[in-house]
Amino acid sequence: MDYQRIIDGIAREVQPLFVRGRVADYIPALASVPRDKFGMAVLTVDGELYATGDAGEAFSIQSISQVFTLTLALGYVGEKLWRRVGKEPSGSAFNSLVQLEYEKGIPRNPFINAGAHVVTDALMAARPYAKETLLKFVRELSGNPDIAYDEEVARSEAASGFRNRALANFLKAESNLHGDVDTVLDLYFHQCALAMSCIDLARAIAFLARGGRGGDGARVVSAPQAKRINALMQTSGTYDAAGDMAFRIGIPAKSGVGGGIVGIIPGRLALAAWSPALDKTGNSLAGVRALELFTTRTGFSVF
Ligand code: GLU
Repeated sequence: MDYQRIIDGIAREVQPLFVRGRVADYIPALASVPRDKFGMAVLTVDGELYATGDAGEAFSIQSISQVFTLTLALGYVGEKLWRRVGKEPSGSAFNSLVQLEYEKGIPRNPFINAGAHVVTDALMAARPYAKETLLKFVRELSGNPDIAYDEEVARSEAASGFRNRALANFLKAESNLHGDVDTVLDLYFHQCALAMSCIDLARAIAFLARGGRGGDGARVVSAPQAKRINALMQTSGTYDAAGDMAFRIGIPAKSGVGGGIVGIIPGRLALAAWSPALDKTGNSLAGVRALELFTTRTGFSVF
């Protein structure tokens, strides 16, 4: 399969979408990201890398980071984590307050903001230096020692993150956040502010295409855990559009409001795309379309 030709073609084809939608301007530091950026990277399980456009340029991965914190937290805490966070699609906005109150402080899944706060809290309880642990983890997975937190984005989110503050405080009131609220939020804002490129992301996420093994063959998670993380990405990884994404893309995917989206084709490859303009659900317009075109042209799907 000529992956390079396929993704070069996709990069041309998605260009009309750059002018549609909105960048994530509710986070001030992201409001000024140029909307004509587009990158895409594919990494096969055999280690072949294909990249196009701005695939080497770092951007704010936002809630794609939740895949990495969940992977780490599951490693440290194990199945007990599921007592504090559910596994069902939310059917609501990713930052819904009303759903959390209705469900008495147990977030629907780890890929909505409240669920991410609980996972981050669990990780912090297990690892006192969780910020360093997370950074080391993504650097090792991607093989890029230069990956860093974008402090400006983290500060910007901390200054404007009133909904996240409300969610974390509510979790605390319901005894489902054990650590200090501000400390948990500081890690959450930093994980969202991880700056990584499509190439970094494709490499970092590829353990989920290899049944839980890293590029060197070493285990990152067990095969059943890799299956479960993929299942959660499929059912809850693209906000309140997971059904539509299963329909259109047909593979586990996780997006972030920085315009990034990653996808897994188990046993074959990992892919990542980036385009800053978002649709109403918070998913990258051109990123989603790129994955849709890729699975259509290759014929790959989990269904
Ligand atoms: N930092 C963003 C927020 O909390 C993450 C949103 C996302 O990418 O899902 O609103």
